[in-house]
Amino acid sequence: MSVQLQSRPEAFRQYALRRAAELKQMVTPYLEQTNTIPTGFSHSEMYEARRAKILNYFDATLEDWDNWHWQMTHRISDPHVLSLLLPLTAKQRVEIERVGKTFRWAVSPYYLSLMDDNDPFDPIRLQGLPTHAELFDDFGEEDPMGEGITSPAPSITRRYPDRLIINVTNMCAMYCRHCQRRRNIGETDTHSPRAQLKEALEYIRANPEIRDVLVTGGDALLLSDLTLDWLLGELHAIPHVEIKRLGTRAPVTLPMRITDELCTVLAKYPPIYINTQFNHPKEVTQDAKNAADKLIGAGVVLGNQAVLLKGINHQPHVMKKLNQELLKIRVRPYYIFHAKNVKGTRHFVPRIQDGIAVMEQLRGHTSGLAVPTYIINAPKGGGKTPISPQYLVSLDNNKAVLRTWEGKYIEYETP
Ligand SMILES: *Cc1c(COP(=O)(O)O)cnc(C)c1O
Repeated sequence: MSVQLQSRPEAFRQYALRRAAELKQMVTPYLEQTNTIPTGFSHSEMYEARRAKILNYFDATLEDWDNWHWQMTHRISDPHVLSLLLPLTAKQRVEIERVGKTFRWAVSPYYLSLMDDNDPFDPIRLQGLPTHAELFDDFGEEDPMGEGITSPAPSITRRYPDRLIINVTNMCAMYCRHCQRRRNIGETDTHSPRAQLKEALEYIRANPEIRDVLVTGGDALLLSDLTLDWLLGELHAIPHVEIKRLGTRAPVTLPMRITDELCTVLAKYPPIYINTQFNHPKEVTQDAKNAADKLIGAGVVLGNQAVLLKGINHQPHVMKKLNQELLKIRVRPYYIFHAKNVKGTRHFVPRIQDGIAVMEQLRGHTSGLAVPTYIINAPKGGGKTPISPQYLVSLDNNKAVLRTWEGKYIEYETP
């Protein structure tokens, strides 16, 4: 008896050691590759050098740089200015000029500072600067989500039983090349008129089943502090509105927007959830972390809605790194959206197989906190549809067959 008790733990330990060695082996390819995936932190010196170059061009100070109004009024949208700040081949410059006549582009000096001088396939450049591919898209639609047909009141999109979107602006700090709402990005930047927002609020007041209101655009944080204070205050005063959410890319493209004054406003109206859109680990910078820290200090809960983009983050290791970097700055990965068939963005649309491969290499392989839900937006306003690798192989009345994260098949009895 006592011999057994002593020898068995030893056998268990041996088994566990063998298994641990196997698990270590499993993560090795990722660890070897991960060093070659740049992050905002690993590139901080390069970013500082680029910032100095841009400030020098505008004859501006670090104080200017940290002022989001300065960033907005100094957005780069002219190919000539761009060519002075980022090496472009003659061909690239012509391309940007040409595409810019059809699709608007602009980048904040901050986002420009994250772009690689030498790599035309840099994931930041690909998101911010137009390429010829945008003109060769006979596949995409203007409004694949049918937002036009799901608006019961001005500025509102309602597609679900208990929650809805208010569109407050068409402005953004930069115009993502993969933007799903590029049809709204006209020549002029406009916030929704106050009268229209009042009608939207009236609709919410009149429909008590609405418990979750998502303020987005455009970029919700491009509203002034004063307007946000008013709008959030109005929503806060509606008894059935349990939570408020803001959709914004400011932590990624304009982190200096997260000021103390803004945080004072946000702290007044809990609970507030902010979902942002980091798409590549290079975007997770010290500035982004500072912005996240401030928002969290104001009681805001942060989530990320990445878009799966071919050539930018469709590689499983890149997406895994992104989600791990986000957890480090306390931004919880929430969704990965399959890129939609929006006109002019076809070159970014990956295969669904790519998305499934990404998810397959997240679940089990890394923290569950780093595993978001992969979503395809069903056309014509059909709604968010979760897509996942298959883990349930079969199910009948008393037995299921499961496939584990490692690909082992296991029979599971059900009573
Ligand atoms: C995405 C979306 C929401 C929010 O959906 P969640 O799954 O709750 O994050 C709400 N309304 C509309 C119209 C949406 O597109």
